Amino acid sequence: MSNSPRTAGDLFVIAAASGTGKTSLIAALLERCPRLALSVSDTTRPARRGEIDGQHYRFIDVDSFRRGIADRRYLEHAEVFGNYYGTSRDEVEKHWAEGRDVLLEIDVQGAAQVRRAHADVCTIFILPPSMAALGERLHGRGLDEPEVIARRLDEARREIGACGDFDWLVVNDDFERTVDELVGIVNAWPLRRARQYWRVKQLLDEEANPITIDPDRS
Ligand code: 5GP
Repeated sequence: MSNSPRTAGDLFVIAAASGTGKTSLIAALLERCPRLALSVSDTTRPARRGEIDGQHYRFIDVDSFRRGIADRRYLEHAEVFGNYYGTSRDEVEKHWAEGRDVLLEIDVQGAAQVRRAHADVCTIFILPPSMAALGERLHGRGLDEPEVIARRLDEARREIGACGDFDWLVVNDDFERTVDELVGIVNAWPLRRARQYWRVKQLLDEEANPITIDPDRS
């Protein structure tokens, strides 16, 4: 980090248990942060009604996905509810080359892999205000059978159990305030000392008594 100025954009991960309102929060965040590009994942799950190939996901078959894993095409990949999902390296690098920052909306297994590959990633976990509120939300959607809801709640507990590994925890108890908090994190992230080092170096060197800062000190 300290040896050369940074050329790539930032990388953000947002994870949440299903039913936490993640999709609408991310849509509002993207509207407020135009530099941020949402990475389109590959998946082997069938498209749901209204989903567009190449826009919501790239829908591919299991053989193509497995070939992608063997060819190291994925920055991270995971099996979620019996289907494969993965972030392709090309997709992330394409956005960086365009001068954008990249947002990955992925599960906690994928977030752990990204953390290992990119020490500098910003990871955000969105929590429901309570498990009761999450249960009500999942029931209220009216999309699933009771057994499916029970399974999603178990899965949610497991995912929430991993939130201690994330840099930022945001509780979605008020939509507008939660969006403000996400925007605040995304805007503050590039201002960390390690990232500002090259920007402020010249200014610090110009001082009569040059000031030294260690970009790597945590
Ligand atoms: P859904 O099928 O409902 O769109 O997504 C199911 C889960 O898979 C969600 O938790 C979503 O965040 C996660 N997911 C979507 N894309 C990816 C991906 O590229 N990698 C990983 N690890 N998880 C993903």
